[in-house]
Amino acid sequence: MKIASLDAGQASAPIGVVGAGVMGAGIAQVAAQAGHEVWLLDARSGAAAAAVAKIGEQLATLVAKGRMTAEVREGVLTRLHAAERIESLADCALVIEAIVELAEPKQALLRELDGLLGAEALIATNTSSISVTLLANGMARPERLVGMHFFNPVPLMKLVEVVSGAETAPAAAEAVEQLARRWGKTPVHARSTPGFIVNRIARPFYAETLALLQEQAGTPAELDRALRGAGFRMGPCELMDLIGHDTNALVTRSVFEANFGDRRYQPSMVQQALVDGGRLGRKVGRGFYDGVPAPAEPVAAPVAVPAALALVGTGPMVDRLGRWLATRGLAFARDAGDWQGLRADGVEIHLTRGRCAAELAHGRGVSELAVMDWPVEPERAAGNQGVALAFAPHCTAASRAGVEALWRALGWMPLVLRDVPGLAVARTVTMLVNEAADAVWQGVCTSDAADAAMKLGVNYPSGPFEWLAQLGAASIVELLDALFEAYRGERYRVSPLLRQQLWG
Ligand code: NAD
Repeated sequence: MKIASLDAGQASAPIGVVGAGVMGAGIAQVAAQAGHEVWLLDARSGAAAAAVAKIGEQLATLVAKGRMTAEVREGVLTRLHAAERIESLADCALVIEAIVELAEPKQALLRELDGLLGAEALIATNTSSISVTLLANGMARPERLVGMHFFNPVPLMKLVEVVSGAETAPAAAEAVEQLARRWGKTPVHARSTPGFIVNRIARPFYAETLALLQEQAGTPAELDRALRGAGFRMGPCELMDLIGHDTNALVTRSVFEANFGDRRYQPSMVQQALVDGGRLGRKVGRGFYDGVPAPAEPVAAPVAVPAALALVGTGPMVDRLGRWLATRGLAFARDAGDWQGLRADGVEIHLTRGRCAAELAHGRGVSELAVMDWPVEPERAAGNQGVALAFAPHCTAASRAGVEALWRALGWMPLVLRDVPGLAVARTVTMLVNEAADAVWQGVCTSDAADAAMKLGVNYPSGPFEWLAQLGAASIVELLDALFEAYRGERYRVSPLLRQQLWG
């Protein structure tokens, strides 16, 4: 297909935005700031004009703070037009729809735009969950529809998922990608599949914590501290409270249903109970927490540190642990061992490989044994976060106290969980890597796109493929296989892409 130039320098680059809500207003602002003439339309009379006025107020705040000149603001406002009729958008080179998240009104609007716009114009949809292939069905020129999934708040969030449906012309997706780049965004390309990139790969971040809560593994505050300790800006429970459990449950349900009930994406009864009880999160003042959770207390100083400390085994996590012991000034010996972790005054502390402490203690014929979570970012776990632990059932009170004292010496809160396989961080990070691996295996996106999407779209400390490089496919596959064996469910099936990495 021949595509209109989307270059702002060209007279042929006016942009239309339909839907003047949170997202549409943000998109219109970004386009006008990039130099385009922009027509903003909404079905509610007066809504587009109100959105333009609000943008004017927001930009005035930037001018007052010295972050924008009055001339730039004036320029943006002269380029932003509130349209009252769809015909005002007829000469646009690109129209982006950001109306209500329902397939039928979107399809009706897209058909109307398809009939109205010139043959070379492009049409984009900001849908966050509906198939671009489905939305294009019924258009005379389905090849010109591209998903352009912005993140909220649009002026601040760098990521744009550019989504191709089955009929989307590669040149149309490419033109939208280039345009997003010129708008100062980082576009990543995705094939239209449920959840695109971010909403798909992020599912386990919530799902694993919800599963751990269902198993009574720990409290929301403990699990949040564990995940913050791995470098996530917010723990899963506080983040779900912020997003809203109704919204989060809807996305989970839509990904589950769109995958024809694949148990990997099964929604959670814990979340359903929150929704049923009206504990929707911060917007209603109650969710997992009542209001905003209080910041965690700093870790208290240790009473005593172990007399004999050894670092056992080899591997990326063992190396990381060794570096952290040295940083904290703790003297330790090296022990080859057939397992990985620490030996502290006779207590074996195994880095989790997906088996419970009870199973390891039974198999090894020792009672003084604990498993520890992966210190993915040990320096972030220090301070007021922590690293999770679980003790074997017959581990003595003295051994437990010794391990907890060691944790405090390491600067970590001892987050003692129930003895569940894979603890918190290890199972969450491996499942994020696994989901990303499947997305790449299925041709949804590249590994670079997955990394960029998760870091920019949801602020993950590392991309899933960066974790894979740091941790190695062997440890990830071993952990997932152990979880698969423990739960005997589809949820933990290993992506073929990861298993193939074991064979070089
Ligand atoms: P919103 O409710 O704030 O705004 C939607 C606007 O569309 C409303 O002003 C409404 O009057 C208007 N509208 C509804 N039907 C219309 C029609 N047929 N023609 C013209 N205008 C119509 O919603 P939002 O949060 O801005 O979301 C808009 C779209 O962006 C949805 O598809 C949503 O899934 C997607 N999205 C939202 C977010 C987010 O965080 N809010 C993030 C990414 C994508």
